Amino acid sequence: MSEGAVPTDLQFLKGVGPKRVKVFEQVGIRTIRDLLYLFPRRYEDRSQFTPIADVQPASVVTLRGEVLSCTLKRLRSMTLLEASVGDETGVVRAVWFNQPYLKNQLVPGTQIILYGKADLHQGHLKLASPEYEIAEADADPVHALRITPVYPLTEGLFQRSLRKTLYDAVKTHLDRSVEEYLPEPVRRRYRLMELREAVRQMHIPVSFESQLEARKRVVFDEFLLFEVLLFQRIEAMRTASRSYPVAAAPAEAEIFEKALPFTLTESQRAAVATILRDMARAWPMNRLLQGDVGSGKTVVAAAAMAAVAQSGHQAAMLVPTEILAEQHYKTLTRLLEPCGIRPALLTSSTGADKRARILAELKQGKLRVLAGTHSILREDVRFLKLALVVIDEQHKFGVHQRHQLLERSPRPHQLVMTATPIPRTLALTVFGDLDVSLMKDLPAGRKPIATFWITRLKQPEVLAHILERIRAGDQAYFIYPSIEETESSDLAAARQGYEALKKGALAGVKIGLVHGRLARDDREAVMKSFAARSIQALVATSVVEVGVDHPNATVMVIENAERFGLSQLHQLRGRIGRGEKASECFLFGEPKTEEGARRLRVMTKTQNGFVIAEEDLKLRGPGEFLGTRQSGAPLFRYGDPSADEALFMSAREAAGEIVRGGLLTLDPAWAAFLKVLEATRLQY
Ligand code: ADP
Ligand code: MG
Repeated sequence: MSEGAVPTDLQFLKGVGPKRVKVFEQVGIRTIRDLLYLFPRRYEDRSQFTPIADVQPASVVTLRGEVLSCTLKRLRSMTLLEASVGDETGVVRAVWFNQPYLKNQLVPGTQIILYGKADLHQGHLKLASPEYEIAEADADPVHALRITPVYPLTEGLFQRSLRKTLYDAVKTHLDRSVEEYLPEPVRRRYRLMELREAVRQMHIPVSFESQLEARKRVVFDEFLLFEVLLFQRIEAMRTASRSYPVAAAPAEAEIFEKALPFTLTESQRAAVATILRDMARAWPMNRLLQGDVGSGKTVVAAAAMAAVAQSGHQAAMLVPTEILAEQHYKTLTRLLEPCGIRPALLTSSTGADKRARILAELKQGKLRVLAGTHSILREDVRFLKLALVVIDEQHKFGVHQRHQLLERSPRPHQLVMTATPIPRTLALTVFGDLDVSLMKDLPAGRKPIATFWITRLKQPEVLAHILERIRAGDQAYFIYPSIEETESSDLAAARQGYEALKKGALAGVKIGLVHGRLARDDREAVMKSFAARSIQALVATSVVEVGVDHPNATVMVIENAERFGLSQLHQLRGRIGRGEKASECFLFGEPKTEEGARRLRVMTKTQNGFVIAEEDLKLRGPGEFLGTRQSGAPLFRYGDPSADEALFMSAREAAGEIVRGGLLTLDPAWAAFLKVLEATRLQY
């Protein structure tokens, strides 16, 4: 917004001059209404202060007392400020590190309020770095004697003055600045507090319960607005963009299915049916196919691509790595050839002649099915009738990249596949414009994988056990991560591991080494020997993550496992557990952080991709999780869709009804909401 363009009513607030208006502006607060939506970070129950004599060690307390003494000590490079604070019942010590300036405020005789955790230290109660506040007037109803709000601060804003400003704003300006906009029936249906009351209770709660009700209202509104905007976008796309309707021929679909070496699982069958239904329409499909590692997503994509090719259109599959592109190309060739379709592969190592031929055939529409890496995103790759884009391992691509293929007219149908199942709420927010197909069942006969976290001491024992398994006919993977961020370090580690195994624990065993920088032919040769069992152990960098499908390999060692992310570990482990024999996965690791340890623990406890995805989300946050690292800013200010899932689903339901039912434009009761929506649109 341009400066000065927005009239502000902030100066009408008591005690707010031009200087504070500036400070508020810097944090996006331009009106009293904005200010009223600056909610407390937390609350302290100051309706009762804990008498110092009653303070229990290890409890979090709010207490009030007088500063009895205050001394500043210097310890090497630190300063330590120590104050004794007493009330009628006792004395407690409080310490702060590296905040020497506090000494000027904590003058003996001053009344202060302390909030923090009490600990027993050499027989004395001590609060380490508690929050403190100077208590000026004795029984001030703004700062104490109630459930007291604690606001988030930025430079130039101070707790007491901000609290006072908000207290006054609620008392004198709430009615004028905040207006209810939700129609009564909606409020009743979702049991929502009236808006003014909710804003009041956020700042001046009469009880913790009423504050929770107030928060519920605020968060609902936030979700509702977001979802309404999202549904509007979907509707706009439905009506504005056209796609090729793909008419699937039942007879040809049967040829495809008959040629499969297995029967489809229920999940696969359902997913294919839904996709064919979606693609038969003249507006774009946007579907997310979620299924755990090994659930068989590729064959679902192949069925969709077959239908597209058979109807005279073109389909492209975008995959993140060259190895995976090659594998998919082979799989597609095998699955589609019986239907008379010949796919092509386009990657950065495709030779110039071949590339030229592929591009020409794409332009003429002769080539119907293309698999490839980001090379297929290049501008000179032109299609005649691109009707379907399949994106595998979506989390490896930025949002940006997937749009490049889609931004054309008619807009291709989109099938996004992910082996890292995305938690529902996240899928609904970040991929809110995608419909979701969930594949719950795995192909029959999959065996559980016993997973162990092995520390250094135990590793020789485990290697001896693996040697025995190899002698009995099993095959094993040894996976090495990159040690540094540099490209070549994983290769160095793998090479070292390879030499060490050959000379040491696995002496006498045939071992192969594969990594990303091996020439394609050499890599293929090694993989072939592994498949033919003339090699028993395969040392690899993480290139096998999404690469290989080899059922006789039943043992996996992941070296320095703490360096891998959770979903990557899950993907890697998904390479075993595909055969008749029980599989074992050994995570070698000495994590240095609690987070690293937690990842390994999670892996030993579950094989469920959804549980792992939820954990991953908790550990890394949504940006990293999706591999997009957008702004890093949370999507929502007040709510958290995964923590407030029930509320989120209610808001989503309401939003769907509002948009699909045309309520915003038809129903006079929604007029107020429409106004808020217009005002909010800029922010999302
Ligand atoms: P992902 O979902 O991880 O991409 P893939 O598509 O790579 O899984 O399939 C994993 C393996 O399962 C492949 O070897 C594939 O041939 C096999 N597969 C797929 N569907 C079935 C099925 N219905 N029955 C048996 N095996 C199947
Ligand atoms: Mg896959």
